[in-house]
Amino acid sequence: MVDKLLTFEEAVKKFDPTFGIEVHVELCTKTKMFCSAPNPAFENDKSLLENPNTLTTPVSLGLPGALPVLNRQAVEYAIMLGLALNCKIAPRSVFSRKNYFYPDLSKDFQTSQYDLPTCLDGYLDVELEDGEVFRVEIERAHLEEDAGKNTHVGGATGRIQGADHSLVDYNRAGVPLVEIVTRPVRGAGKRAPEVAAAYVKALRDIFKALGISRAQMERGNVRADVNLSLAESGSQELGTRTETKNVNSFNAIKDAAIYEIRRQAAVLSSGGKVNQETRHWHEDSKTTSAGRPKSDADDYRYFPEPDLVPLDIDTQWVERVRKTLPELPAAKRKRLKEEYGFADLEMRDVINAGALDLIEATVLAGSSPQGARKWWMTQLATFASENAITLDEVADTKCTPEQVAALQKLIDAGDINDKIARQVLEIVLNGEGDDPAKIVEEKGLKVVSDDGALVSVIQDAFKKMPKAKDDIAAGNLGAAGPIIGMVMKATGGQADGKRVRELISEEAKK
Ligand code: MN
Repeated sequence: MVDKLLTFEEAVKKFDPTFGIEVHVELCTKTKMFCSAPNPAFENDKSLLENPNTLTTPVSLGLPGALPVLNRQAVEYAIMLGLALNCKIAPRSVFSRKNYFYPDLSKDFQTSQYDLPTCLDGYLDVELEDGEVFRVEIERAHLEEDAGKNTHVGGATGRIQGADHSLVDYNRAGVPLVEIVTRPVRGAGKRAPEVAAAYVKALRDIFKALGISRAQMERGNVRADVNLSLAESGSQELGTRTETKNVNSFNAIKDAAIYEIRRQAAVLSSGGKVNQETRHWHEDSKTTSAGRPKSDADDYRYFPEPDLVPLDIDTQWVERVRKTLPELPAAKRKRLKEEYGFADLEMRDVINAGALDLIEATVLAGSSPQGARKWWMTQLATFASENAITLDEVADTKCTPEQVAALQKLIDAGDINDKIARQVLEIVLNGEGDDPAKIVEEKGLKVVSDDGALVSVIQDAFKKMPKAKDDIAAGNLGAAGPIIGMVMKATGGQADGKRVRELISEEAKK
């Protein structure tokens, strides 16, 4: 234990952080990895999980003599992911038994891949919030099955210590997983926590784009373990690492890395040694605490699974899958940036706000790109933050991209101006109306673009300000400001601004 952490700035001045990340992703195949039991990660159907031990077969319960059969779709998803991560796809991979005892693992071994994984030697270029790109090298991505779930009842913390009893649910046992393991990531310095979080975010976006997982962090579809060590600044040797388990949000990944950097720096600075161990992440206090010691080669007595033949993937299969790969997030961002004509900074803001997919949907529904960007990045973003929900949640529950497009189309057609559009959007967000066009109609919000009505207001204004009329007629358009103001006031802000300016120029010359 250390009494006092170093500040992050002190810590990264004295030490170079190295991190590595293991990500487990649940594949959304219909059935489990080695049997025909329904996969709860297929649709993330909560009701399925409310009835413990119903999504099982003798295989996923690990009954003696039950024989596994490999899920072809899971292999295909792993190939897709491997290709997206620039990995080599191994022509032969082998499932092994990883032996350990835990109540949620009734077989006493996890079927995984060991020395011959399906995907290896890849990389992912990760873009940080300011646009800097950092390459993360990937050592391997292997297929394995998930374990069941223990629930410890009666204690204060939900951990096994202090619990009265524990429940075991095997519904998750046998859910197909791919585990993606990075090589040690060095040289990120003080940006290490950001790179770690951005890497997992980039992975999550790829899972979604490929459609191989629902990829909802909050549902546990994507789970990350963060390895972190420190070395003396400038030293080539790696320090002793800790592995913080199950850090399951992007912010938590960043915060866990920051905490471990500060903690390990304090331990090392006071002459202590970092223990090689797993650590638990505590979301409430944003700290980690010691778990179990972990040696470099925990002895799981791996041996090839005798009930499964080696997995041979021929080049034709790989090439067939390669042809079905959808556009990946990085390529899509590049394309949309060009198509939409967004400036670098605009695009970065859009991406950091998680608004790109919503803007794309809005444009596909008929909006101009800049119009779509404006709504999602201003009024809708404000609404999201005021209500502490995400933009996606706004789109799901309050205002769809189609509604935003309908609103923007009214502006483009000159039916309403920006000011009225904001009112209409407010009405939609408050749940007081669905169809922007109908709201405009019913509330009489249409802009006054009837020339006759506008001209008479303009003439009234000129009577009150004859000098302005002469100035405008003489070409001083700056003098039109007060006249425009009077017209807007007289029409309750519902005048079509562009038409008003045109009419003022015409009328001034008369
Ligand atoms: Mn694993």
